Amino acid sequence: MFFKISKPRLLLILLLVFLVFPLGAGAARPVKVVTSLEDLAAITREVGGEKVEVFSIGKGTQDPHFVPPKPSFILKLKDADMVVQVGMGLEPWLPPLIENSRNLKLFRGAPGFVDASAGVPVLGIPYGKVDRSLGDVHGQGNPHYWLDPVNARYISANIVAGLKRVDPADADYFDQRRQVFLKALAGRLTGWMKAAKPLNGLSVITYHQSWPYFEKRFGLNVICNVEPKPGIQPSPKYIASLIARVKAENIRMIIMEPYFNRQVPDMIAKATGIKVVVLPPSVGGAPGVADYFDLFDYQLNTLLKALD
Ligand SMILES: [Zn+2]
Repeated sequence: MFFKISKPRLLLILLLVFLVFPLGAGAARPVKVVTSLEDLAAITREVGGEKVEVFSIGKGTQDPHFVPPKPSFILKLKDADMVVQVGMGLEPWLPPLIENSRNLKLFRGAPGFVDASAGVPVLGIPYGKVDRSLGDVHGQGNPHYWLDPVNARYISANIVAGLKRVDPADADYFDQRRQVFLKALAGRLTGWMKAAKPLNGLSVITYHQSWPYFEKRFGLNVICNVEPKPGIQPSPKYIASLIARVKAENIRMIIMEPYFNRQVPDMIAKATGIKVVVLPPSVGGAPGVADYFDLFDYQLNTLLKALD
């Protein structure tokens, strides 16, 4: 079919087209996203593709509860369109950085602020009298929820909602990428569950309470922690009680995050003969762990190797 369009009308149509799709909208500059952790950066890259430019303040080799502030982080936030946090009190260091950036787009409640925890079924929610008996750092329930790959469904939904708020023109693109990501993840999960079978019921000690979501998904049995409470270092008396417990029960290994001191785990291992296994809880926490899929590959492989 062919319509004859007069020149003035053609100009009017072109003008309308440019009004709806401003010049360069297709090749618009990427959305600048700052995340608190590399895990959130990895998921943002999955759903954001070429439409995002992502920087993570926390590195996978750092304790996510305690990231030292730097002036360069404030500059990154100043220039950003969106910020993504784990939330649930994991990053007490982040709000002062956002405040100092004076970037109103990123303040809590603004379109560019994303709390990735919305909708996540939280483990370890305090009940009864809420005080500091849960330790210093897990007062709002356990915030290490990215360690169950099934929770990426909620994390990615929250990130995509944020991307759509700051870049509505690419809404379909983000939705499609999320579907592709979730499908790939579901495929990999089947393999991970199969691979994790030998870990079922395996009794372990973990340094910090980083692993309840991982434990629940992959069937480990975390008996106790090196830290008597999250964020609290063990006393000699507590260490002696851990050693007694390992000797009395069939505990197979101590899992420690790479950023803790090995001294206490090594001491327990020496006294009992069990292994210390360094397990990164985040993307970037070990060489080759470059994305969210690598993280679970690496963790499961490391644990399975330690069983030999
Ligand atoms: Zn923690």
